Parts: sequence; C-alpha cells; structure tokens
Amino acid sequence: MKIGVLTSGGDAPGMNAAIRAAVRAGIKKGMEVVGIYRGYNGLINGDIRPLDERSVSDIIQRGGTALYTARCDEFRYKEGVDKAVKSCKEHGIDGIVVIGGDGSFRGAADLSAAGIPCVGVPGTIDNDIAMTEYTIGYDTAMNTAMELIDKLRDTASSHDRCSVVEVMGRRAGYIALNTGIACGAIAVITSEIPYDLDAVINKIKNTQTTGKHHFIVVVSEGVGNADQIAKEIEERTGIESRATILGHVQRGGSPTVRDRVEASKMGYYAVTLLEKGIGNRVVGLKQGSVYDVDIQEALQMKKPFLEDLYKIADEISF
Ligand code: ADP
Repeated sequence: MKIGVLTSGGDAPGMNAAIRAAVRAGIKKGMEVVGIYRGYNGLINGDIRPLDERSVSDIIQRGGTALYTARCDEFRYKEGVDKAVKSCKEHGIDGIVVIGGDGSFRGAADLSAAGIPCVGVPGTIDNDIAMTEYTIGYDTAMNTAMELIDKLRDTASSHDRCSVVEVMGRRAGYIALNTGIACGAIAVITSEIPYDLDAVINKIKNTQTTGKHHFIVVVSEGVGNADQIAKEIEERTGIESRATILGHVQRGGSPTVRDRVEASKMGYYAVTLLEKGIGNRVVGLKQGSVYDVDIQEALQMKKPFLEDLYKIADEISF
C-alpha cells in the first residue's frame, strides 16, 4: 500500500508533527509513503517524492510545514480533480492524509468521491472546525498572541494607555476570547457575541473611577476596525489609545507541547483509517479522544461558541 501526505490552506504550527506521525505510522505499518508538495498543486503537477523515516527527522520542533502549503484554485473544478486522480494512479497512491482546514476537507471529499480515499486532519490556528474541539496550531497561536499582548501591556501600563489588539481567528473568536482572559483584557470583541462599543466604553469609564489607568481590549479579526475602535475609545474616555494588529506572527514559531502531541495523535489515527481502506473521513478530538466522522457531515456541523467562558471573562474584568 502507498499513501501520500499533504498540507493545504493556511499553515499552522504543529503541522510538522502531524506529517511526521503520518509518515512514521505508514512506514511502521509496512506502507510506502510519499510527500505531496504545496497542497493540491503538488498532486496536480506531480510534485510527489518518496519519504522515509529520516525525511521527517528534525521537523517536530519547527513551525510551518516541511511539505509547504498553497491554495489551488484549479482543484475546485472537476478538471483539477481529474488531473489529481490521474496523478495518484500514475504514482500508485492508494490514499492521502490531508492536513488543513475546511476548504482542504472539501477538496478531500471531492477526491474521495473520485476514488482516492482521503482522511482530513484539522490544521488551522483558528480552531474553527466544528467536528473537533481542537485544531493543530491553536495552542501555539494563542500562546504567541498572549506573549505579544503581555508586551503591549507593559507599554500601555507605563504610559497609562489603552491598547486595542486585533488577533487572528478568521471569523472565529476562540483566540480572542482565550487570549483576552489570559491577558486580563477589559473587553473582548468577537463576532459570536453582539458587539456593543458603548458598553465597552462605559466599562472603561466606570473602571477608571476605581483607579485603573491602563486597558487592553482584544478584538477578533474581521469584527470592526481596531484603529477606529481605539480612536473612539480615546475620544470618549480621554485615555490615549493605540491599535495593534498582531497579524501573521501568530502563525509562526515552535509548536507547544499540546500542538505537537495532538498533531501526533491525529496524524497517526488518520493512517490507521487509510490502512483499512477507509476514506472520506475527518479526524478530530472529542473530550480529548481521537475520533472520526464523514467529511460532509463534518462540514455541516456548527461549532458552539464558548458563552460560559465569555461570561466569566466579562464578569472578572473591571
Ligand atoms: P483551508 O483548508 O485552510 O480552509 P482554503 O479554504 O484556502 O484553506 O482551501 C485550501 C484548498 O482546498 C484550496 O486552495 C482548494 O484547492 C481546496 N478547496 C477549497 N474549497 C474547495 C471546494 N469547495 N471544493 C474543492 N476544493 C476546495
């Protein structure tokens, strides 16, 4: 049996641990393993190379992905999928581990339907995949954001300022909420909870009367404009306010223990499915254990937001 491994969509720290686990699990089970470079592009262009156990040495501690990643528009259409199937046949590939996000899983579903069994492993810092409580890269990204916000807090407190910080998350507020709590933010603004700037400003004003004179407001990517929010806070509270957009630094860096371990578990599990000839599945974590579901089912699931955590964050910040 020969399996391929690819990473697709946005990179996330910990993807290398998933690659390593899938490659080593395959070899341990007597399979041949190939690396498919730059996501579905590599499949279409035939950028496919054999990997042995040493090919994945010295990558577990690195951010990014050793197989590179890319977006591939051609793969969204039947012609692209047909080319990919042809390429799999030419290389004798019997199944593929696809490490990526929702978009990559849609591609994996198309490829599975076309006869090449694929198993998705959730790799995205945003934690925005409903079937799993955890995605690879989430923990590292949150820790990176937390360290950066701590640094902003030092300067905000020295200057009696308000620091409005935009964190990543695409449309999801998980990074914002967790880093907001971890950094003692006065307010967290996410798309899941109705956003009321008047309430944030009133909270800052009330807290100013108790002697607090520096503030952190965490804003999730895509909800409002950090510069505009800072400007309005400054005008209406009198406190000097600065906006910072953390950006892509949150996607880099050496993965945390949690990312390396969960990625290893999920990468390994994906290969056990392919070994049985099972495809069209996504692997995830449910109450800490690895499980799998049908890709279409996974794509239709809705992820609940952390309302209880949001309430705690709100009630302890004043
Ligand atoms: P992510 O996997 O991180 O969500 P994207 O949404 O950019 O990232 O998707 C990555 C790749 O997956 C795309 O470049 C494309 O090749 C493939 N893909 C995305 N959406 C679809 C789709 N609806 N059908 C088939 N392939 C898709």
